[in-house]
Formats: sequence, C-alpha cells, structure tokens
Amino acid sequence: MKQTRRVFLKSVGVGASAIVLSGGRVDAWSGRLPNVILVFTDDQGYGDLGCYGAKGFTTPNIDRIAAEGIRFTNFYVSQAVCSASRAALLTGCYSERVGIQGALGPNAVIGISDGEETIATLLRKRGYATGIFGKWHLGHHREFLPLQHGFDEYFGLPYSNDMWPVGYDGTPAMQGQKSTYPPLPLIDGNEKVDEVATLTDQDKLTTRYTERGVRFIEKNKDKPFFLYLPHSMPHVPLGVSGKFSGKSAHGKYGDVIMEIDWSVGEILKTLERLDLNDDTLIIYASDNGPWLNFGNHAGSTGPLREGKGTMWEGGARVPCVIRFPGRIPGAQVCANIASTIDLLPTIAAIAGSPLPGNRIDGVDLSPLLEGVQGVNPRDHFFYYYGSELQAVREGKWKLHFPHRYRSYMGVAAGNDGQPGPYATGETGLELYDLESDVGESVNVANKHPDVVERLQALGQKAREELGDKLTGTIGRGVRQPGRKGG
Ligand code: MG
Repeated sequence: MKQTRRVFLKSVGVGASAIVLSGGRVDAWSGRLPNVILVFTDDQGYGDLGCYGAKGFTTPNIDRIAAEGIRFTNFYVSQAVCSASRAALLTGCYSERVGIQGALGPNAVIGISDGEETIATLLRKRGYATGIFGKWHLGHHREFLPLQHGFDEYFGLPYSNDMWPVGYDGTPAMQGQKSTYPPLPLIDGNEKVDEVATLTDQDKLTTRYTERGVRFIEKNKDKPFFLYLPHSMPHVPLGVSGKFSGKSAHGKYGDVIMEIDWSVGEILKTLERLDLNDDTLIIYASDNGPWLNFGNHAGSTGPLREGKGTMWEGGARVPCVIRFPGRIPGAQVCANIASTIDLLPTIAAIAGSPLPGNRIDGVDLSPLLEGVQGVNPRDHFFYYYGSELQAVREGKWKLHFPHRYRSYMGVAAGNDGQPGPYATGETGLELYDLESDVGESVNVANKHPDVVERLQALGQKAREELGDKLTGTIGRGVRQPGRKGG
C-alpha cells in the first residue's frame, strides 16, 4: 500500500511529515521519494509535437503528458548544439560556466569535469537508482562516461549518431567531416559492446534504448529511480524501425517522431502496470531546434526564426512538457521563461536534495509546476553560443548583440538525408518584442531605447560572470571542463 502523500513542495507546515534537511531544504515527500524520468530528444523542433501544432504525424503519448501536466511555450536550451546543451541540462548551469561548447566528436579530449555534480550525482546521493539509455555526448573517454558522473547504468552512444565514417544518407564518406571516424561504439557500462555501422543499425536505436529503459524501471520499481532517456533521434541520419517506417504522412522524419512517441508510451504503460504513475515526475524536452538544411529530414520550428546552431528562437526554444499526477495540475500552459538549466534545481527541490556545491545558474521552477499564480522564477535568460553572448531576454524583450551566425535563410535545403548549404547571417543591435513578434521579424530598437539600455546592462553582468568572445570579456565565474588524462 502506498504511503500517504500530500502536495509537493513549498508545503512546510502543511504536513507533519515534512523533514527539514541540514541544508535548509525540505523533504516534501512523506513516503517514497518521487521517481524522475527525463526524456531528451536530439534536434527536435519547437513545432514537432502534436501539442505544439505538428502536422503530418501524431504524438498522442507526449500530448498526454501535456494534457495531464504542464506545457511550456517559452522553454530554452542553454546553447543550440548537442554537447553544450546536455552539459547545461545535467549541471543546471549555462554551458559557458562548465566549459563545454559545441558538439564533442570522436577526436575530442575534453568532457564533463569531475568537479561538476549532475542531476544523477545528486539523486544517487539521495538513494536513487540512476540509469541513462541513449546519447551521452559529454566526453567519450572513460573518465567522462556516465558511470563516472552519477549513473549506475549506461547503454548507448557516447556522441552523435552522425559521427561515423558514413554519410548522413548512409553512403560512404561523411560530408564535411573526417572520414577517419570509427563505427559508432555502443557502450554498456564503461565498455564497448556493439557497433552502429549501418543505417539498419540506426533503425534499431530508439527501440533498444526504450527496452533498456523499461527494464530499468521494472528492476527498480521498489526504490526511487532516475531514468534519463536521451534519444539519438531525430538527429540525422534518421533511423526508424519497421514498426513505424512509412506510417506517417510526413515521411521518414514523421515516422521517427512517431516512434519516439511510442517509446514514451511504453514508459507510461510501464509506470501504469507497476502502479508508479503517481510516484513519478516525467519531463520531455529537446536539446536544440531542428537542423533545417536537411530539409525533409529536419523538423519544424513552427513560427520561430532560424534553427539549430543559432540562438534565434528556432534554435534555442524547444518543446517541454512535464507531468506529475496529483502534484502538477493538468492542462496547464505556461508562458513564463524557463530553461533546461532550471531542471536540476527543480528536481533537487522535489527530491529534497541539497544543491551542488558549485555555483549554478538554474532556478527552481516548482511554483510554476504547482500552478501558483503570479510567480516568475526566471525573468531573464542569456543566449550564449560558442562563447559569444549573442542575445539576452528579459520579459517579452529580446536584444540581439551584433554578431554573425550560420543561417538557413535564402539557401535551398537538402533532401532525403543530404544536407543543403548554409548561408551567413549578420545582425546588429536588434530588439524584438517576442509577445507580438515571436518570429523576430521587426527590429524595434529605435522605438525603445530605454529597454535597449536596460538589456545591455543585463548583458554586461552576464559577460562579467560568464565571459563573451564578442567583446573579449573573460568571465570570472567560468570553470574548466575535464581533460583526458588530466
Ligand atoms: Mg542536438
């Protein structure tokens, strides 16, 4: 029989069972600590779920999370590229702070530092079983792998599924990248146990990760667990199993998303079967916007400008839905600014965990999840890319600082797995009202010099703390990544 429960968080004094920890945090759970499941997809766009307006395929299981929980409409990743985004997600810091940029390839010699505490590190200290099944991408050398950073179990690829000696469309010789890459190593624990060498191997990834995830839940059903399921899909080269191949009206990309939705459905079914629904917080988000020059093998940003590799909204703003039955009211749509960097402190609050010893940048979103009216844990956000502070947001206003960027405008996208070229974009000091102009199409800097001045001052604070290559500023709060052998 389940323990008595009460509303989670901010409930000091409401229930007799609240425990104030030595760090001053509150263990808001009177019985079992809540399970945490984090599903993180790769290069899925803001417009690529049914509940965000997708057309040509359906995502009923993910939409159900939104319907029974909360859907964020202004949710950001720290940087619109894989490794940087994941470093931020797992540490609760802007990726600038923890020294991880870009996408680490098979030749990388850096990875996540031993000095950083991840969500898994914190939860394992609280007695959680911790497992990751999917793409890690925070360094592939042994010292950087998940088992050395808070996880009990790992199965998956250590980096992106296109970092292999094969083209995006499965033909030999990878365009624009080193062809000396080895076949993709599938790692179990700390050891390579298999390879992903063909497109047929890619087709199996979503199913293999899902099966391991379900087994992990079954194995740990009697204790709190943290399941991190970072899918390799829908990053190119796209892979989909026979269960979903040809099933959508949106080609292979739609098929792939439908299979990811199936995967979420398998997780939800497992929770129901084991009577864990009410004990489990589940979060679904993407690591960055779509890689638009892949045309029909890329996703959609919906109404947003540009895509992956830029900090225009199409690169940085991603879908995010969260469910926690009985604790998060259903059918909420939240327009507050929020970010992946906020998930660590939010999960820490829910699990009654102290925060990391190092400084973090995330804020606790739990009041938003609870549906508390009038709260706003995060009123601003910094858009960094490759050590450049490219923009800052406060409230509805977003100010771009002058910078050049990789653009998808005015060039023909590729097709069926082959990429098209990039263009180069350049912006000056430009201000956008994201409430009335979510597509960042009308620069209103001249009309609002006071706002420009305020956001410039906010940007200067960020530079002093986290640095900025555009202005040559060294940040005082930046930490080093881990280095192989060091
Ligand atoms: Mg990505």
